[in-house]
Amino acid sequence: MNSMDISYILDDLNDAQREAVTVDDRHALILAGAGSGKTRVLIHRIAWLVQVMGFSAYNILAVTFTNKASNEMRGRVDALIGHDAQGITMGTFHGIAYRLLRTHYQEVGLPQTFQILDADDQKRVIKRLLKAMELDEAQWPHKQVIAFINGEKEEGRRSQHIDPGHNPYVVKMVQIYQAYEEQCNRSGLVDFAELLLRAHELWLKNPQVLAHYQARYRHILVDEFQDTNSLQYAWLRVLTGASGKLFIVGDDDQSIYGWRGAKIENIRQFDRDFNDVKTVLLEQNYRSTGIILKSANELIAHNEDRMGKNLWSAGEDGELIDVYEAFNELDEARYLCNQIETWVEQGGSRKDIAILYRSNALSRVIEHAFLQAKITYRVYGGLRFYDRAEIKDVLAYLRLLLNREDDAAFERVYNHPPRGIGNKTADMIRVEAKINQISLWQAAQQMVDSGLTARAKSSVAGFIDLILSLDEQTNNLDLQNQVMKVITQSGLQTHFEKDKTEQGLGRLENIDELINAASTFKPTELVAETISDQPEEVGVDFIDDTIFQNPLAEFLAQVALEAGEQQADKWEESVQLMTLHSAKGLEFPLVFMIGLEEGLFPSQQSREDASKIAEERRLAYVGITRARTKLIISHASRRRMHGKEFYPQSSRFLKELPQDCLNIIRLANTNSFNKHGSYRNYGNYGGFAPKPDASQSGYEIGSRVFHQKFGEGTVLAVEGDGESARVQINFKHAGTKWLVAAFANLEKLL
Ligand code: ATP
Ligand code: MG
Repeated sequence: MNSMDISYILDDLNDAQREAVTVDDRHALILAGAGSGKTRVLIHRIAWLVQVMGFSAYNILAVTFTNKASNEMRGRVDALIGHDAQGITMGTFHGIAYRLLRTHYQEVGLPQTFQILDADDQKRVIKRLLKAMELDEAQWPHKQVIAFINGEKEEGRRSQHIDPGHNPYVVKMVQIYQAYEEQCNRSGLVDFAELLLRAHELWLKNPQVLAHYQARYRHILVDEFQDTNSLQYAWLRVLTGASGKLFIVGDDDQSIYGWRGAKIENIRQFDRDFNDVKTVLLEQNYRSTGIILKSANELIAHNEDRMGKNLWSAGEDGELIDVYEAFNELDEARYLCNQIETWVEQGGSRKDIAILYRSNALSRVIEHAFLQAKITYRVYGGLRFYDRAEIKDVLAYLRLLLNREDDAAFERVYNHPPRGIGNKTADMIRVEAKINQISLWQAAQQMVDSGLTARAKSSVAGFIDLILSLDEQTNNLDLQNQVMKVITQSGLQTHFEKDKTEQGLGRLENIDELINAASTFKPTELVAETISDQPEEVGVDFIDDTIFQNPLAEFLAQVALEAGEQQADKWEESVQLMTLHSAKGLEFPLVFMIGLEEGLFPSQQSREDASKIAEERRLAYVGITRARTKLIISHASRRRMHGKEFYPQSSRFLKELPQDCLNIIRLANTNSFNKHGSYRNYGNYGGFAPKPDASQSGYEIGSRVFHQKFGEGTVLAVEGDGESARVQINFKHAGTKWLVAAFANLEKLL
């Protein structure tokens, strides 16, 4: 290939990036700070391998961290090399593991119909199990049990691999772990950690399969490598084998999943674990203004034990970072709305805006304010579409149609909507299942034949008949009609229709959205490509295309894997709300980071532990470096959360930013909210939360106020306090109205 042809691969790169892209036949570690073009380099590397080095797309495996990042990567590779990109295996660790298991379910001992158990289902299964084992939740909290099991799996250990010694706590945990494994095996369920563990065992137990994939994937590229856990790393190492080449891209300063088992050491050790590693450092940041970059650099400099990098920008200094000191969370939300409106008035686009927060709980107030202000938005990664209860209800029916042994699905819907199967009956079924080591479905069937009272019997039989007849009726339908049928016949539709509240309507809308999703569903591209690009010379038929024969199975798997992420681009013109964790790898012209308060960010749990604080600081670094042109940070001196009022201190991270880069904005007019002045600090979240004084709504009966639209009026009554305080006002010209004080923007007249 001549140099003209390849210029498009190398032209838009700086020297260091070019060096990375063109590394010869060695392992490579690209270590660089945020916005330095790591992801860009990885994409260009793929183009280089295929178009210049002549590798087949089939030889390339590219792993990213989120589905969104993976879709983006696919789009960018396609744009760069077009048709040649077809056949590249791309996805998240979980997605790739899933596809491997679908293909090789027999080799890893799974039933063909195995289903993914998501975090919420896992919780249910564990809770049931604890109950069945007669373990007290107070002593054996399900969260701890889940953390134990997932943690062990992430280290590659099954229950039989753990030597509990004489520690009674570990002995019991291992017993629970074992019971959980048995339960999942019986039901054909695979949790997220299990996906990876089985995929790893696939390598270890099937040398022939491993050899096949080792020969296939000559180049393995991994983005966001700093967040791999032990099992993912081990999986990669085995797959790479003696002949594959790893191209690792990462930033130790952006390791933010330590709490979920990510090992920052993986990136630190990489050049010791592998021979002949070429390390390339990228130091020029192309994303952010000078001010934003300087702030990020100074913040992260407070962490110790970094691999150490310099990051500079040739761009302009840009605007100062605005720091808004809100009176409370409503004021914070209102400020956000104003800023967004200004941005849009000045010609900016809503989709260029991201609101980042440490905890999902912060989104609700913002959402509420956006609804009032008619600012379109979408919550990304929050209570995600597929995590919503009503959606999970429908999915559970679908799962049961596919696989009767799915106990988690059975548990969810056997009496939902209510059909007279009481707790006692359910317990009897559970006991029957446990004693005979059978699924709940089987147990229920047996119990109908004998062992239940007449009434219970007819309810249980009703449920069994429902599932059987649904199965029969939906057998030949397309996916969309299958889903519709399930929604109506199960009784869920009628059940939700009874609820006339806003929430109830929302549920029905969500269900409609699920039907939409089913109607537009296509099996994942990757499976298709993996199969279509199988070269002739591979003798063994490793790829099993029966996975195509069941769109429902594929649909359910995608739903579990991509919970919520697929609606990412649905409303083009909307502000994006997301947690700091899910913002990783993304960039936006305007970024808001809200709730920078001690106890929120850094989180309460991290405040006692230096290594956790360091991880929180990396998270703040990730947040700041998402911004391209403008960053706005806010914190509130009073915040209502979980039904309590808190008076937090501002986050230590604010104090760690270079003060000359900040533009502090204090409240201009707080008197309608707080007649005691604007700023009070009482402590932190989780600690002392003093009761606000009774007159804090600030309105006295008889006082005179002015409203933008309704004009002058007199306060007749005040009801409630805090964000929900309402005032009744008799307006001179507009009559008597109830207004929510927090949103009414009332001016007090003397
Ligand atoms: P993160 O650590 O946040 O994942 P990253 O290192 O992966 O960041 P990229 O997302 O690849 O960085 O790049 C950041 C921005 O800089 C992107 O908009 C990218 O297009 C741009 N960019 C990177 N390299 C160059 C370059 N050589 N010339 C122009 N723009 C560049
Ligand atoms: Mg990146």
